Amino acid sequence: MKKQFAVIGLGRFGGSICKSLVAEGMEVLAIDMDEEKVNEFAPDVTQAAIADTTDEKALKSLGIRNFDHVIVAIGDNIQASILTTLMLEEMGVEHITVKAQNDYHEKVLERIGADEIVHPERDIGVRIAHNVVSENVLDHLELSDEYSISELVAGSTIAGETIYDLDFREKYGSSILAIKRGDDMIVSPLPDETIQQNDVIIVLGANQDINRLENHWM
Ligand code: ADP
Repeated sequence: MKKQFAVIGLGRFGGSICKSLVAEGMEVLAIDMDEEKVNEFAPDVTQAAIADTTDEKALKSLGIRNFDHVIVAIGDNIQASILTTLMLEEMGVEHITVKAQNDYHEKVLERIGADEIVHPERDIGVRIAHNVVSENVLDHLELSDEYSISELVAGSTIAGETIYDLDFREKYGSSILAIKRGDDMIVSPLPDETIQQNDVIIVLGANQDINRLENHWM
């Protein structure tokens, strides 16, 4: 059976989630208190509803309990986001993901039992900062406070060397997960793989080591 999703708040973030879920063939109920927003999304989603989700009765009448996963994407109104999350939790919704506006909001959401808390603006900010610091960094993903994955372009300094020669693990405490070379993807490359200029190298390591790599290598 298809997983059923409900998205509350059809701003830029919630709206983008709705579109992506629909593109993946999922069933989506899109909810917003703003009729215009609901009308905008109604043609694309499985179901659309106008409701203020801080109103318990309205929330119940949507049958929200039966959804596998509810995403709370209410933006600036932190109070409405918290109240909605609290009620979803009390109703026993299986999985709740909430967008947090700031650290205080996140703390409260953690306390009331949101399963997953996302910080899209902050996360994108971190990724873009890594991108602009070094031209060699294509992308950067923080896995936790301690570890990241980074996509780096190999420059002339290391082209022609094997992974073994570079002594990557020892010098940078990082592991090469994969190398993208044109259309090819070399997953878990062996130590005798020779790096070529413009290879895209995907590395996993501690944040400080990855930062060192991004700033000083290639
Ligand atoms: P973003 O930063 O993702 O664009 P916005 O703050 O612009 O977020 O959008 C949040 C959406 O959530 C708005 O469309 C707003 O109408 C909706 N919203 C806010 N409060 C409630 C609520 N209590 N019930 C339902 N929808 C709400």
